[in-house]
Amino acid sequence: MTTKTYRLGVLPGDGIGPEIVPASVRIVDAALAAAGAGAVEWVDLPLGRAAIDEHGDAVPAATLEALADLDGWLLGPHDSAAYPEPHRSKLNPSGTIRKHFDLFANIRPAKALDDADAIVPGTDLVVVRENTQGFYADRSTYRGTGEYMPAPDVAIAMGIITRPAVERIARQAFELARRRRRKVTIVHKANVLKLTTGLFRDVCREVAADYPDVAVDDYHIDAMTVHLLRRAAEFDVLVTENMFGDILSDLTGEIAGSLGIAPSINASHDRAMAQAAHGSAPDIAGQDKANPTAMILSSAMLLEWLGGRHGDEALRDAAALIEKGVAATVQAGTKTADMGGTAGTREFAESVATTVERL
Ligand code: ATP
Ligand code: MG
Repeated sequence: MTTKTYRLGVLPGDGIGPEIVPASVRIVDAALAAAGAGAVEWVDLPLGRAAIDEHGDAVPAATLEALADLDGWLLGPHDSAAYPEPHRSKLNPSGTIRKHFDLFANIRPAKALDDADAIVPGTDLVVVRENTQGFYADRSTYRGTGEYMPAPDVAIAMGIITRPAVERIARQAFELARRRRRKVTIVHKANVLKLTTGLFRDVCREVAADYPDVAVDDYHIDAMTVHLLRRAAEFDVLVTENMFGDILSDLTGEIAGSLGIAPSINASHDRAMAQAAHGSAPDIAGQDKANPTAMILSSAMLLEWLGGRHGDEALRDAAALIEKGVAATVQAGTKTADMGGTAGTREFAESVATTVERL
């Protein structure tokens, strides 16, 4: 058996990033060893506040070039609102990277770690959010879209949906559903936004024809919020456009227990970036208080994604070990302050790592 050595970037970010990202690296290494997977070569790259201080740029060109040679990376959170100008006014580091590498799929699972904390126990779903279009479409790519003010008291927003963009996100959702419970729910608002979200729904339905083994249904975004609150555990994969996905994934994260522990990856066909859903939490930075769960689980998602892309089962095993290690740690009562416990970042991460080694 040949084992590939994966090259993964480490971009710690701002605030609590330098605490939660290294903790995740340590746990990934432990899981790879425990699963008998090939090793990872970690590549440290400057980005964010540290990069401004050292290189005069929050997103150095050299970092983007280096990322292009990697299989994926762990991205810590950024506090770009606190950057000095001109850096503050630019697109933030995460957005810049997403755009540069066309990371069109934002995959955000909502899985209850501990049913006692979940609003809907048993929730285990994934929001697949289109990351490049809708009302959040990149202003420079699609001329004329976005927001503008034709008069001082009038603001107009426009959204864009294109068939190729819907096709590729829909395929991601159906492929994912095949590895899960084989159910996709399309979320739209085709009774009002008939052309844009209507096209989104219709193209998803067309793609569904290629996946006869996957059940499909669709809901309006407003009705969906109600169904989720009442019966989130019945849903598997939700696919939706950019803004709906942004809002819906915050809701599902909270339904599963806490948005603070929600992981995500942003992916294209050939690269993926692990990124916690939460921000840089500057108020608790450097105090060993941060909950590393979201970053750890995002790293596991990256391994799962790489495993799928390269047909490397050992990587998928490592991802599963991390998930189990986190769940076992939490269920044993080792929790950080935001989860109602007393463990610090290091203690929590160490508990996950040793659990992974013992599983
Ligand atoms: P952003 O604009 O970057 O999304 P935000 O305004 O949403 O930031 P966060 O940085 O996510 O804010 O923090 C919101 C609150 O949640 C803060 O009180 C912060 O301390 C807390 N918080 C966020 N992430 C974590 C974490 N991983 N562990 C513990 N507390 C956290
Ligand atoms: Mg936020």
